[in-house]
Amino acid sequence: MSIIADDSDFEKIPKDKKNPIIKPDAVEFDRNFENCIRPKTFDTYIGQTALKETLKITIKAAKKREKPLDHLLFYGPPGLGKTTLAGVIAQETGVDIKITSAPALERPRDIIGILMSLQGGEILFIDEIHRLNKVAEEILYPAMEDFYLDMTTGKSQTVKTLRVPLPKFTLIGATTKAGELSGPLRDRFGIIHRLEFYTVDELAQVIKRTAGILDIEIDEEGAKAIASRSRGTPRIANRLVKRVSDYALVKYDGKITRDIANKSLDILKIDEYGLDTTDRSLLRLIIEKYDGGPVGIETIAAAIGEDVRTIEDVCEPFLLQAGLLQRTPRGRKVSPATYRHLGYKTKQQTTQQSLF
Ligand code: ADP
Repeated sequence: MSIIADDSDFEKIPKDKKNPIIKPDAVEFDRNFENCIRPKTFDTYIGQTALKETLKITIKAAKKREKPLDHLLFYGPPGLGKTTLAGVIAQETGVDIKITSAPALERPRDIIGILMSLQGGEILFIDEIHRLNKVAEEILYPAMEDFYLDMTTGKSQTVKTLRVPLPKFTLIGATTKAGELSGPLRDRFGIIHRLEFYTVDELAQVIKRTAGILDIEIDEEGAKAIASRSRGTPRIANRLVKRVSDYALVKYDGKITRDIANKSLDILKIDEYGLDTTDRSLLRLIIEKYDGGPVGIETIAAAIGEDVRTIEDVCEPFLLQAGLLQRTPRGRKVSPATYRHLGYKTKQQTTQQSLF
């Protein structure tokens, strides 16, 4: 079996926009690094236990019925393993996978081309599926539901509609914003799952596995120290283990211990919650300039020089889940825990002090 998006195949794919089979937004280095440490089977895919069990049963049932899997939608913040899981499903089902992303499917011919290139049973993975345009969505509906394409030929009075059959395939969609998916598209997925943030123990396993592949020496406490600052996200854990390893190699004998991990993460300005300088300046801004909020996301973005999408997709999910940020109809606000974490007096403490 060959998975189209595997390392060797990836190198053959031109990065040209005309070819929609890409893994977008990934710097070359990151892509190679990620591909070599990406788990390929359920056994090596750590955590997400309930989801894995459900998927194993779904795969077994599909095999018994000798039918392709139902279309699946995975949602959750970036770096939690949606793309990886799609590859695992392909491997475990014994079928090929084509990987693309909604922004690469701008023109009708992009999506038509990719659908017509599918072989029976194959998996089509569309990342950032909430960004599909209306035309691409309309093309997908009959393809997902009844496996055909409606194509038109000719002009004005001579226009004809052709119904082109497609092989049966499984669409796996991934999104960081399930809420932005149109209702009709969401309804066409048989299985919809949210990926959860990982626990420190799970991330420590991810880190030890990655360290093993990259030949990095690390002890249990070192792995846990990195895990606890990885914001519940395997992609971040993998990046940090690499950076800490550089530090351990240059400053010490190369082995990562708790002490070395903590020292290098301090140097990288990643605090014990896993917050980096962008997160902290966002939270500080709300405290110092807006008295804890609420304040609109556009104002925050302009003030800290980040774009709204990066804040919403990358920074916010973890800050919300950690209870350091709250979304209200009038904008974002921080919690008393944020004041404490960043070393500010809470509003209550300040009021009490001024009373005495
Ligand atoms: P997403 O598609 O959700 O943005 P990816 O699937 O690209 O995330 O995962 C990011 C990186 O994290 C991958 O390179 C992979 O090695 C690692 N990873 C993700 N999930 C797991 C997991 N469950 N076990 C081990 N490593 C994982």
